[in-house]
Amino acid sequence: NVRLEDIKRRFNNVTAIEDISFEIPDGEFWVLVGPSGCGKSTILRTIAGLETATSGKLFIGDRLMNNIPARQRDVAMVFQNYALYPHMTVAENIAFGMQMRKVDRKVIQDRVLNVARSLSLEHLLDRKPKQLSGGQQQRVALGRAIARQPQVFLLDEPLSNLDAQLRDDTRAELKQLHQNVGITTVYVTHDQVEAMTLADQIVVLNRGRIQQIGDPQSIYANPANQMVASFLGNPP
Ligand code: ATP
Ligand code: MG
Repeated sequence: NVRLEDIKRRFNNVTAIEDISFEIPDGEFWVLVGPSGCGKSTILRTIAGLETATSGKLFIGDRLMNNIPARQRDVAMVFQNYALYPHMTVAENIAFGMQMRKVDRKVIQDRVLNVARSLSLEHLLDRKPKQLSGGQQQRVALGRAIARQPQVFLLDEPLSNLDAQLRDDTRAELKQLHQNVGITTVYVTHDQVEAMTLADQIVVLNRGRIQQIGDPQSIYANPANQMVASFLGNPP
């Protein structure tokens, strides 16, 4: 599980997030939504260890993580501006996280192929990132994170650069992947459809604070306030 207890993050005198508490049970898919600047990325980056909480506690699998460096956390993060290694092929990019963890070569090859198939990348394995479209690059970034099979998967608007069709397809693939593998996932999006179709639980944020936590149906039917209603709810 992933547990945040009263997490706060201040930048100089600006409070980016505060009173952030929730617990994600193993294997669940949680979606963070809210307007630009509400603190979604700061929460993800704090879980990843790329940001340090000003106060509060973060636990992953009941281990206190506050002072554990990012690379010692069993998490994989995909950013909005996915950064691939330009000198490596698609296959090498996907394999990268596993090599770091000293996985057997044959296992790596099999897993790269499986991940590539599930993201429709199997015909591109020998290409370099600059020979790919933006959507293909984004799917490679997803593949690299998935192949690692981390304890926690953190996705920050991973479909934002895709056109409508690819976004729908990749969203469906993500949902399928999650159903197959069941890695605990925290997913940030602006997109209501993504939140409603992917989430076990949605966390709605505004100005650095949690407005409501609930499953998509109950939030849609019973938004806690006007802000939630305008973002996700059933309009009056
Ligand atoms: P978006 O949807 O636009 O990506 P977000 O919900 O991800 O927004 P954050 O990036 O988490 O928002 O930012 C939350 C708040 O913290 C914003 O007001 C932002 O300006 C501020 N902030 C984030 N990072 C820093 C930083 N390194 N220094 C100062 N302020 C920051
Ligand atoms: Mg953000």
